[in-house]
Amino acid sequence: MVVAVALALAPALAPVLAHAQATLDERILEIREQSRFVPDKALAHLLKLQPELAAAPSSTRAEFLSQLSAARMRLGQNDVAMESAEQVIAFGKSLHDNAIIAKGMLAKAYVLSAQADLEGAHRYAFDAEKLALTANDNALKVQATVTAGQSYAEQGNFPAALVKLQHAVDIARPPAGDALSLVAALNALAKLHVQMKEYENASETLDELLAETEKLKSPGRMSMAKNTEYALAIESGQPKRALRALLQSLDIERKLGAERMVGITLVNLSDSYLKEHDYARAAQYAQESLRSAQETKDMSTEATARLNLGQAYIGMGRLAEGKKQYEAGMTRYEQENNKPDLQAALREYGEALERAGDLAGAVSAYHRERAISNELFEKRRQQAMLELQEKYETEKKQRQIELLSRENQVKGAEIDNRRLQQRVWWLLALVFALAAAVVGLLYRKVRHTNAQLEVKNLELKAQSTLDPLTSLYNRRHFQEFMRSLNAKERNDDIVGALFLLDVDHFKHINDDYGHAAGDAVLKMIAENLRIALRETDMIVRWGGEEFLAFLPAIPRHGVDEVARRILLGISSQSLKYQEHEISVNVSVGFSPFPLVPGGVPLPWERAVNLVDMALYLAKAHGRNRAYGVRGFENFHLTSMEAIEQDLERAWRAGFVDLSVVLGGDPGAHPPTPTEHTNVVSIKQAAQKH
Ligand code: GH3
Ligand code: MG
Ligand code: MG
Repeated sequence: MVVAVALALAPALAPVLAHAQATLDERILEIREQSRFVPDKALAHLLKLQPELAAAPSSTRAEFLSQLSAARMRLGQNDVAMESAEQVIAFGKSLHDNAIIAKGMLAKAYVLSAQADLEGAHRYAFDAEKLALTANDNALKVQATVTAGQSYAEQGNFPAALVKLQHAVDIARPPAGDALSLVAALNALAKLHVQMKEYENASETLDELLAETEKLKSPGRMSMAKNTEYALAIESGQPKRALRALLQSLDIERKLGAERMVGITLVNLSDSYLKEHDYARAAQYAQESLRSAQETKDMSTEATARLNLGQAYIGMGRLAEGKKQYEAGMTRYEQENNKPDLQAALREYGEALERAGDLAGAVSAYHRERAISNELFEKRRQQAMLELQEKYETEKKQRQIELLSRENQVKGAEIDNRRLQQRVWWLLALVFALAAAVVGLLYRKVRHTNAQLEVKNLELKAQSTLDPLTSLYNRRHFQEFMRSLNAKERNDDIVGALFLLDVDHFKHINDDYGHAAGDAVLKMIAENLRIALRETDMIVRWGGEEFLAFLPAIPRHGVDEVARRILLGISSQSLKYQEHEISVNVSVGFSPFPLVPGGVPLPWERAVNLVDMALYLAKAHGRNRAYGVRGFENFHLTSMEAIEQDLERAWRAGFVDLSVVLGGDPGAHPPTPTEHTNVVSIKQAAQKH
């Protein structure tokens, strides 16, 4: 097993400055280098400087205390070393000096590491780095960055370690950096490359390390560089170079009296012989290393020595002894919770057991190794997860902010949109209200117009059916009425009846009194007819001074009486027109309706025609009288056409039964009974009523 670089940087020696002119700071810096290689001498020098410290500036006193802690730690006096470290921290806090606090925290980290509390050590290392970066002390920055990088490496987080150590090298270079810092950073980086099996990078870094170390003229530093060269050579398959580097190193360390470093180099020697399967020599160097480490209280090196001894024993077939040493060595790593080193140890353990034929033991070691590997993997995975999560959370927050602002924009637009919509709705509502009002007005107007129209229509209809002068029905209305009338012969007693009137000598009235007087007379006749007849009877202005009355239902024997009423009703009234008294007579032709000559009902037109012929006869026989066609006799001996051609002749021939009703005017021309054979009967008939 190779000794890896732990937080407690490997010691080296530097000659103490001889000249007295050197400042206190310069002397402490020399002791600091010396402490790496011969801590006992360094501690003695430090204690001698103590009287000068009272007057020294705070930074000098802090550095002094830090080196006191480091020297004691390297001597295995961890408790007092811790006290000094705590003093530095408290001192820094009291001064609010970040550089001093960082220095104290680094000192504490190294002591914690020596106490196998790696977790605590790492925590202080990282905190120290943060504080150191705020301070104006480049050497401190490099030291803190290197320590943080080594802490990551111990956690198995090689990428983070690489970033830190490369950064440490960068800031350690000129012009800001100093030679010692650069060598320390290069050494740490080269060892990390080896650990990561990046042998090319490791070789490049090592070359620079060796060159820079050469310049320092520090055997101690050269010894450290040689140990690093060994690590690269042995891991990259150059055993001869490895051995040569170790032997050179051992030589320097022995001359320096750097006991701790000797212990480390011895352990590495044993390791190189293990690689050669030279178990006897490996065991011998391991035993030497073990003794040396126990003397210097270097627990880490002691543990490594035990591992190598165990491996050598196993190789020699001394399984039980070998296992015992191995387990003892691994106990330290377990104490430290140093998983990467424990994993490497278990792998070598398993391989050794396998070579020795202890397959069960090998499998067991392998399982333990796997478990740690998984644990490490899991830890790295979790760390990666945490980092990812943090990144994700940040991005998520950013996204949420963006989303919110976008949402706000959308909401704003929505609100604007809604306002606009509302305005549109209000506008629409207004338009609808106006439209409704207009429509309402129009509707009312239309209704009004319709009502007016209806009135007009009614008027028109009335006009079309009524005679304007007399307000009686006109001839067209009567025609329509008769067309729609279902003229059937009802029982003998109740019949319809037609009366056609013509004013006698009407021309004289017009001539004597003027046309207007004639009109007034016509109106009077209409009025008289209305009085003489019933509501249900239809009175029609048939022509100029001709009237027609249709009585829908009347007893057959009452028809002549109606004719008389008409005659008398009109002739009995007179019209006062200006200073004149005007009275008129009418002549009437009438018949029951329908007439049924030979059992066949006569169409209404022919009935009216026949009545008209009767009226003509009344005129011809003296006016102011009514002639009614009662019916037909011996109809089979004549025809309707013959009767219609000459009613009078048909009457005289006895085919037509006429009744004659005389008006009351004695001045009229009554029919002469002797003139006509049937006149008596006519007279009689008239007198019957
Ligand atoms: P007759 O006894 O033979 O019927 O004699 P008449 O004068 O009544 O006969 P005629 O048929 O020759 O004359 C009818 C007159 O009635 C002719 C016309 O000037 C008049 N007349 C027709 N219609 C109207 C009207 O609406 N108003 C007025 N004032 N006169 C009218
Ligand atoms: Mg006439
Ligand atoms: Mg007339």
